[in-house]
Amino acid sequence: MSVISRICILGGGTAGWMTAAALSHKFKDLNLDLSLVESDQIGTVGVGEATLPHIRFFNQALGIDEAAFMKSTEATFKLGIEFCDWGKKGDHYIHPFGDYGVPIDELDFHQFWLKLRKAGGTHRLSDYSYPILAAEQGRFRIPAGDLNDIGSNFGYAYQFDAGLYAKFLRTFSEANGVRRVEGRAVEVGIDGESGNISSIKLEDGHVIEADLFVDCSGFRGLLIEQELKTGYDDWSHWLPCNRAVAVPCESRGELRPYTRATARTAGWQWRIPLQHRTGNGHVYWNEFISDDEATHQLMSTLDGPALAEPKQLFFKTGRRKKFWNRNVVSIGLSAGFLEPLESTSIHLIQEGITTLIELFPRDGVNPLDINEYNARMGLNFERVRDFLLLHYVATQRDDSEMWRYFQAMELPDSLQEKLSAWNARGYVLQYEFGVFLPPSWVAVMHGQNLIPEGHDPRVDRYSIADIEARLEQIRLDTVREVETTPTQVDFLRRHGAASGSPLVSAGKM
Ligand SMILES: Cc1cc2nc3c(=O)[nH]c(=O)nc-3n(C[C@H](O)[C@H](O)[C@H](O)COP(=O)(O)OP(=O)(O)OC[C@H]3O[C@@H](n4cnc5c(N)ncnc54)[C@H](O)[C@@H]3O)c2cc1C
Repeated sequence: MSVISRICILGGGTAGWMTAAALSHKFKDLNLDLSLVESDQIGTVGVGEATLPHIRFFNQALGIDEAAFMKSTEATFKLGIEFCDWGKKGDHYIHPFGDYGVPIDELDFHQFWLKLRKAGGTHRLSDYSYPILAAEQGRFRIPAGDLNDIGSNFGYAYQFDAGLYAKFLRTFSEANGVRRVEGRAVEVGIDGESGNISSIKLEDGHVIEADLFVDCSGFRGLLIEQELKTGYDDWSHWLPCNRAVAVPCESRGELRPYTRATARTAGWQWRIPLQHRTGNGHVYWNEFISDDEATHQLMSTLDGPALAEPKQLFFKTGRRKKFWNRNVVSIGLSAGFLEPLESTSIHLIQEGITTLIELFPRDGVNPLDINEYNARMGLNFERVRDFLLLHYVATQRDDSEMWRYFQAMELPDSLQEKLSAWNARGYVLQYEFGVFLPPSWVAVMHGQNLIPEGHDPRVDRYSIADIEARLEQIRLDTVREVETTPTQVDFLRRHGAASGSPLVSAGKM
């Protein structure tokens, strides 16, 4: 085995520049020769604006200043996702980045709420969640980080302009020595002995040789699939939506610190508020709605005038059979795609990068590292798949062909087991790996009207009066904390408003 010192990243979308930024920062001392090839002519997918809280740790690990990042990417804060019309039409709930209430004597808060509800309690589970109440009132502040403090025990993410984020990370990476090469890759060189990829050739004849390639070429999977024929596990039978149409529009009304996902008859629609505009899109299953109708539904429900022509995207949900094959690691859309219902793609990019860094094959590619990487990323994808599917099957909706399809679906065992445990006594089975922790599962299952038959018997040693008093105290504490929280707009003005943003110029969104 020979030392890996030359790394070529193919693709300059979110995946490519996140990879370049992280490798150039983390391996500063290794003197790696890092190059990134991208083609302005091909461009990027141009969507991907909503994230999960973990991205903060990615930025922090690179030493990125939050306010500077927010200004550069027109970012807003995100406390969760509001789901409209999912359980049934007219319903809405927020999946927050944080717990409900606080554990009582180490027992899950929602267990007490379930018992009180059965005894006639009328407050929503959401009334005990700081991030939900703050989101509903358009408020935001950074958590203080005290896990015992009800107003600090939550996470937050960002909604940003993905193109500006890639640009921001490009500046960062180039300052760290990454060489950007503009051009279209047209040919791949293979080492006759090992069968590994040895080089890529650009349209202008330029050849880039490397020991390790990171394929961030998007849905094309230029190296991992077109060249290495790695294969794809098609998950369309579970997540059949296969198209999207996206369009930005002018912002209107209050700047809410959350993404919205509204269920439709043949898919769902997103709304992502940024500082300078609102991102919108309709994800749909083309079996049950035409492209024109999907576009019409999207365009007729925008908050304000469209700022561009609607853009059509095509995809097949699933994952690459091997994320790492030979000396090619696929990260981003080339590794697989799960629809953006819970904003997980950028998170999976982050997982891919951190796992690659952990297993970095400095002394040569080793099959053990490849196997470990593929097993871990496989689990990450599966966990996300189950969580996304939950939204479609934990529903009373049967008002269209798509919803009836999900009603009749045979679920993956892993998801079926989760649902059975919840329905019996409100227990959330813990997965090994997987980004979504029990509070997220509680949020969606409860939010879509799956109310367990029983509860944890350990709460039975508390009287109803005792539970009522404890929960009321927690609720009042939560309300008080929210009341002292600034609006997101006020917070952003002090921390991260872009110059030229309406936040600064008009004083109002
Ligand atoms: C409808 C939709 C909505 C989404 N919403 C979200 C969301 O809200 N949150 C989220 O986390 N994720 C979301 N995603 C996913 C997110 O957009 C992607 O994960 C992210 O943008 C990463 O894309 P990428 O960098 O892998 O690919 P791309 O953006 O497609 O970039 C590919 C790069 O490869 C280059 N390239 C390709 N071929 C060649 C070649 N031959 N030569 C040279 N260069 C080449 C291109 O120029 C480009 O730079 C969404 C995806 C879709 C489809």
